[in-house]
Amino acid sequence: MAQQMWEISGKLQVEESDITGVTTRRPLANVEVEVMASNFGVYASWGEVRTNSDGEWTLRKEKDKSKRKFKIKARFADSELEVNTGLLANIEDYLSPAIVVFEHDHEVEGPDIQIGTRCFKAGASGELGELTNIRQAITWYLCKTVINTMQANDSYFSFDGKIHIVYPSNVVSNIPYANGVTRCAYIQTAWWSPDTVLHEMSHLWNYDHNYGTANWIGAVLCPPDFDTHSLAERRPIAFHEGFAEYAAQALLHEIWGNEPNSIRERPLPYSRNALVESLHLHTRDEVEQSDQGVFRALALLTSRALYKRRFGDKDTRLDSYPYAQAVSTPTRDCPEPPRLTIWDVLKVFQANPGAGWPTEWQVGNNDYGVVRFFERAADVLPALDEATKDLMLNLIDPNGTLEPQSRCESSLEPSPGGVITHETVTSPTRL
Ligand SMILES: [Zn+2]
Repeated sequence: MAQQMWEISGKLQVEESDITGVTTRRPLANVEVEVMASNFGVYASWGEVRTNSDGEWTLRKEKDKSKRKFKIKARFADSELEVNTGLLANIEDYLSPAIVVFEHDHEVEGPDIQIGTRCFKAGASGELGELTNIRQAITWYLCKTVINTMQANDSYFSFDGKIHIVYPSNVVSNIPYANGVTRCAYIQTAWWSPDTVLHEMSHLWNYDHNYGTANWIGAVLCPPDFDTHSLAERRPIAFHEGFAEYAAQALLHEIWGNEPNSIRERPLPYSRNALVESLHLHTRDEVEQSDQGVFRALALLTSRALYKRRFGDKDTRLDSYPYAQAVSTPTRDCPEPPRLTIWDVLKVFQANPGAGWPTEWQVGNNDYGVVRFFERAADVLPALDEATKDLMLNLIDPNGTLEPQSRCESSLEPSPGGVITHETVTSPTRL
């Protein structure tokens, strides 16, 4: 029979409102699409193609001109990420499901077959409308976007290999966790959210960007403060947990916070009183050993308008509780705030022998808590000077007394001659 070149094309999307609170269609990029064709009722594979960054795909195949039905399947798997269904306990048995996204109900003429846009969404017919599949599609979009954005910012931010998100996971544990050995994040149905997915993914990122081992490294149980760990290791564990929660929130804000009406906001630091009253942390050492304390400390590191906020003392509840409060009096001649981002925080994990830090961030050393992270940040990040770092370490101390405005000109008394001497508060700036 005479042959012809068939061309089958379509587009994959997911519609969701979990990421920003606004219903939005997202492209599903680099998804594996399998085209199956049948005449006389038996399907045979014509091969696989991948979607482009807009979710579009095209497969060309030379075949005879017989009318056919087509069935299209999608798998959320490539060389760097796989979204699996956790039905079995053995990692080798995990399946990345082939989801049917389209099927003809009758045979059609070739050679050009337009499948059109197939969108995972609530209310869609067939497998496109199943909640589990929709969430797997959102998980794919989320994680691929984060991985791509990380790589675009700095090649150091890449993962060391393929990671797996297991959803829905029904084995091993009733709460989500990430396993650095199997490189899997396990998420149960009741726990699924973009926040949880990125929290667990951030644990996996941490595993790939730290140094040393600890007996808890195989499985960090989430949510935070599920305390099965020994006190001797509490500081690095708290850092691991606090970092994961911070990174999830900071990435959601950094990547999706600018979309119209997005609910994603920059993580905010707490006032000193909130550290005591809300988190029950009475010393900076307790802050270091608390997941939530670490989260709020990292939020301070990347906060904005540092010199327009005051943090109060441990006994005074500010109107902005639990957050630091905007100052009502204008400040002037304040130092330049560091304006750090999540990307700066990730960069601090990297070894920097020239700055005195020969290894990546350590996980098996109890000195590696958030205070040491701030000190390392000041050594490796050009935008963070020693004086600003010292101020920040005071601001996360429930017993501290400094306010950011103490470094601004307006807090000074006029000199005896009535002339304000500006040169007294020049701030150190490093390039
Ligand atoms: Zn966690």
